[in-house]
Amino acid sequence: LGAALLADLARLLGPDALVQGPAVREYLRDSTEMQGLFGAADAVVAPAGVEQVQALVRWCYERGVAMVPRGGGTGFAGGAVPRGGVVVSLERLRSIRTFEPELWRMQLDAGVTTARVHRTARESGLYFPPDPGAAEQSQIGGNIACNAGGPHSFKYGVTRDWVTGVEAVVAGGELVSLGGPTRKDVAGYDLRSLFCGSEGTLGIVTGAWLRLIPAPPAQVPVLAAYGSTAAGVRALRRVYGHGLRSAVLEYLDAGALDSARAAFPGGLPADARFLVIAEADGDPAGAEALAEELDEALAGEALRVWVMREAAERRDLWRWRGGVSFAVRGRRGGKMSEDICVPFDRLEEALELGEAAGRALGLPTCSWGHAGDGNLHATFMIDAGDAAEVARAEQAARLLFEAAIELGGTITGEHGIGLVKREQLPRQLGEAAMRLQVEIKRAFDPRNLFNPGKKVVLP
Ligand SMILES: Cc1cc2nc3c(=O)[nH]c(=O)nc-3n(C[C@H](O)[C@H](O)[C@H](O)COP(=O)(O)OP(=O)(O)OC[C@H]3O[C@@H](n4cnc5c(N)ncnc54)[C@H](O)[C@@H]3O)c2cc1C
Repeated sequence: LGAALLADLARLLGPDALVQGPAVREYLRDSTEMQGLFGAADAVVAPAGVEQVQALVRWCYERGVAMVPRGGGTGFAGGAVPRGGVVVSLERLRSIRTFEPELWRMQLDAGVTTARVHRTARESGLYFPPDPGAAEQSQIGGNIACNAGGPHSFKYGVTRDWVTGVEAVVAGGELVSLGGPTRKDVAGYDLRSLFCGSEGTLGIVTGAWLRLIPAPPAQVPVLAAYGSTAAGVRALRRVYGHGLRSAVLEYLDAGALDSARAAFPGGLPADARFLVIAEADGDPAGAEALAEELDEALAGEALRVWVMREAAERRDLWRWRGGVSFAVRGRRGGKMSEDICVPFDRLEEALELGEAAGRALGLPTCSWGHAGDGNLHATFMIDAGDAAEVARAEQAARLLFEAAIELGGTITGEHGIGLVKREQLPRQLGEAAMRLQVEIKRAFDPRNLFNPGKKVVLP
């Protein structure tokens, strides 16, 4: 390996495809860098197109060389962090192949960023709802590989619900199209869905077909601040109970608010310890009517309610919400953010157990996330350079995972298993389901070369 491997890859793909020098470092990490995770690779390549990806996979498959597909590197599970092998960056596959606004659909390369999909759709009055928070960096291939969600998943679902087809290079370098522009398809097993959330372990996604919808003309956030978690959770339950079809249903607890309080547009009441964010959307009259109903449902026990009818208010709100993760990180320089997901009725217990896990290990803790989906970003704030503290956070995370499973939930709602949760997976799935997972991995990747050691570890 080493120099010989680089020379071979340069011959195969052309020297332009090799990433070299200090830039390599950027390809050895993802968002788990905030908890001190860093990888090592034998080579980093950025193929120029689908045919080059095929040539590379064929070459690696013949020689037994591991491949680590990489999108924008924003993942929270260490999925793109290499443990040797060749990092395959999809960044040069960035064309929108066809965009047919009148048919509400788009076919594109895997390396197109999520934000570009949003912008392109918007410019033609259309909407692609999945909105994971690092959209300027994350790529549609990475979104598919993680089956990414985001705040608007509450009403609109996750990436899988918007992908009608996946194009991927599989073992041996073959190109497969799983689905396409067709909106319904039950021919064969649903391999398209299987690729959604496969975390680079079944093949390399090179393209996709997306379905879009007409953009809702009006979007009106409705926020409410509470003096306690219990009061906030009661308000969330009222939104469900009143049958209000909010587009988002988010929360931030006291610790998350304390991290981002100063930047909240317009200021928060000093005694606010829990914030709920809902959003009414649709045609202007419908959105206004729903905003009023949300206002009423959230107002009981609230310290303050905001109904944000101005576009600038909404923009500032979501910009602030997008910065929460970074503000929390800023508290101690690092953080370990988990994303357990529990049935909605167990939300309050999950919030308490997250805090208890941090307390038990002596770590400052906070959480925020997608309350309507029961999806909590329980976070332990750490100094990522302090190995003992990282180990304590890992212990706290294990307590959290146990709690999630006990509450009937899952250890990951949207970030995936990757490197960091792989030991926990058998515990959640049990023996028989785990065996099926292993058999699926073997069927797609008999030589265990697509992102080995991630998600489903072969015995
Ligand atoms: C501030 C912030 C907020 C976030 N908010 C959310 C959120 O609300 N909801 C959410 O779901 N996530 C969220 N994320 C996590 C992350 O943005 C998503 O998981 C995103 O989908 C990852 O995409 P990426 O292109 O960066 O993938 P990467 O990090 O590069 O890779 C992630 C995984 O996908 C695989 N992969 C990437 N591209 C391909 C491909 N073309 N073919 C096969 N496998 C591939 C990698 O091997 C790896 O296993 C957030 C991250 C940050 C930093």
